[in-house]
Amino acid sequence: MFKKILIANRGEIACRVAATARRMGIRTVAVYSDADATAKHVQACDEAVHVGGSAARDSYLRWEKIIAAAQATGAQAVHPGYGFLSENTDFAQACVDAGLVFIGPPASAIEAMGLKAASKQLMEQSGVPLVPGYHGADQNSQVLQAAADGIGYPVLIKASAGGGGKGMRVVEKAADFAAALASCQREAKNSFGNDDVLVEKYVQRPRHIEIQVFADTHGNCVYLFERDCSVQRRHQKVLEEAPAPGMTEALRQRMGAAAVAAARAVNYVGAGTVEFIVEQSGYDQPESMQFFFMEMNTRLQVEHPVTEAITGLDLVEWQLRVASGEPLPLRQQDLRISGHAIEARICAENPDQDFLPATGRLAVFALPAHSGFERAPVRVDAGVRQGDVISPFYDSMVAKLIVHGATREQALARLDAALAQTHIVGLKTNVQFLRHVVTSDSFAQARLDTSLINREAAQLFGQHKLSLAWAGAAWVAHSLLAQAQARPVDASGWTDPWSAADAWHSHGRPARRFDLQAGAQSLVLHWQGEGHGGGQLACTDAADAPDMAGPFAYATQADGGVQVDWCGQRQRLQVYTDGAQVHVFAAQGACQFEALDRLAHAAVAPAETGRLSAPMPGKLLSFAVKVGDTVHQGQVLAVMEAMKMEHQICAPAHGQVQELLFAVGDQITEGAELLRMASPNVVA
Ligand code: ADP
Ligand code: ADP
Ligand code: MG
Repeated sequence: MFKKILIANRGEIACRVAATARRMGIRTVAVYSDADATAKHVQACDEAVHVGGSAARDSYLRWEKIIAAAQATGAQAVHPGYGFLSENTDFAQACVDAGLVFIGPPASAIEAMGLKAASKQLMEQSGVPLVPGYHGADQNSQVLQAAADGIGYPVLIKASAGGGGKGMRVVEKAADFAAALASCQREAKNSFGNDDVLVEKYVQRPRHIEIQVFADTHGNCVYLFERDCSVQRRHQKVLEEAPAPGMTEALRQRMGAAAVAAARAVNYVGAGTVEFIVEQSGYDQPESMQFFFMEMNTRLQVEHPVTEAITGLDLVEWQLRVASGEPLPLRQQDLRISGHAIEARICAENPDQDFLPATGRLAVFALPAHSGFERAPVRVDAGVRQGDVISPFYDSMVAKLIVHGATREQALARLDAALAQTHIVGLKTNVQFLRHVVTSDSFAQARLDTSLINREAAQLFGQHKLSLAWAGAAWVAHSLLAQAQARPVDASGWTDPWSAADAWHSHGRPARRFDLQAGAQSLVLHWQGEGHGGGQLACTDAADAPDMAGPFAYATQADGGVQVDWCGQRQRLQVYTDGAQVHVFAAQGACQFEALDRLAHAAVAPAETGRLSAPMPGKLLSFAVKVGDTVHQGQVLAVMEAMKMEHQICAPAHGQVQELLFAVGDQITEGAELLRMASPNVVA
């Protein structure tokens, strides 16, 4: 086995590979770009080499530099991850020429499968079923149009060198073909430097079912069953699961055999995925399922953890064993499926704006209890930590959430619960959208095909399952609790939440008004205190909850959230403030709004969420906590004096104080970090 490997990638997959290497006692070398100097994957490895600028072409795609880094650090092998150089024939060959083991198939196999058209010709010869279509070398536009007319519309034009869902055009009728062809060729030329295309029958409402294969250098090749990746947006995977719902043992064996034949046809070695498109005449008619070869991905796949969950195997360990010359650890007859697994890709994007990618800082990145890079009922593979930035340089995937259960139903319930506890503040993500997909009738009942998202659009987009009124009520509770925390306890042990400058007394009782705004919707909440943690709350102008008013009680939760009783209903919610922006998460959904009440806001949220730094230059007056203290969100940590006023620095989240970075009396510059905190429910 290798003693040291270089990981030629970044993000979650680099961390993933490092985790298995560490467990196997293999040392790791990371490579990183300017933007990734302090990235999680750099910390996850034993050594790191800077390879260039932030853009991928200046760093992660510079293979001479990466090979030089491997040689300089004494690495014996290179793991390419997925994307970047993983399917680059020149890189795979250059590794070998430099005396390094490429942890992947031989360059010849990558090349044979690299172009969709050429690989189809090869598959045709090996007896693997293909979608009816044209994949010839003659790229004359008349020839292509005639081929499309012969296949019958709709057809799909695909860039032969395409990948990642790019370079595809659906053509509904003959008259549209020429324009679609020209635009596909342009995109292919720009993205892949090759404008060759193929034309296929566009399968209506198909499923995407792929087979994981594994081959060694001793002539063994097995399949590790299937993954259903039918839930897609823009031809890109959103949810992946294994086994495929409705799969029969007979079909699994036929697809497995076809995938193994495909791998054998190119003398495959290592982990690979053979993707099939599956036609079905109905959702519950497995006997009608017909499969056709689409392409082979000659690398580890993003969604490999679902296969690990159901087989109990570590696919990266298998990759390392095979690359070092060992035979496959198991034979086909030793492989078993256990339970059901689903992966959700959490991406920085706005589903309501056609999935426009988003960038920004992960001000809050709170996750359910989970394992990282390891099989578990809830697994999260993430290459970022709270505080990290999702930059425009790389792809928009923030993390993968993988759940495993005895049945699909159980996995589904776990997935929704885990998504509900995934709180991301600071940039737009698809988390709530994923919850809507997961709980949609189509997905719950496994009526799967690649148009599921379009079909269910009305239930998936522009949904707000947590009402603004309830989110506002949570904010009121959070504000009152934070204020109580910020005030000294009097002799009787009684904290006084309503002696704030902006509170007034009506009929002898403390009262306060909270104004908030979400898009075009504005809301006013009137609170009137009564005893400790109780009172009345009335809200007006909420379109979704007109004139809700009634008894209101609130209490802090152990996890830093609030429990709110209002008008006879009880909910537990988490509130995060990011400047004037308030983010509320609850079991049924999430909600974001702006706090308009400036006084109330200043009184409760002096610290920016996720920051423990000085908001302006000043003097440190006191620390209210010491190292080791457990604090809850909103609790006062320190007091500073600046511009002749005192400012409280409050905990951005529930956590534990790790280090105090200044002494009382110190002069602090703006933005300087005052103390460090660890959040127990945040990825390390
Ligand atoms: P899968 O998700 O099935 O592993 P994808 O096609 O989604 O396969 O690609 C996996 C990763 O590789 C993604 O991060 C994607 O951005 C990247 N990728 C795939 N093809 C290309 C390509 N031609 N150029 C650049 N990146 C690619
Ligand atoms: P990429 O290299 O971008 O992953 P694929 O050939 O794997 O390209 O296709 C990506 C997705 O496009 C598939 O998962 C499927 O949803 C859709 N697709 C591909 N071929 C067809 C087809 N012939 N008919 C209908 N949909 C298709
Ligand atoms: Mg594909």
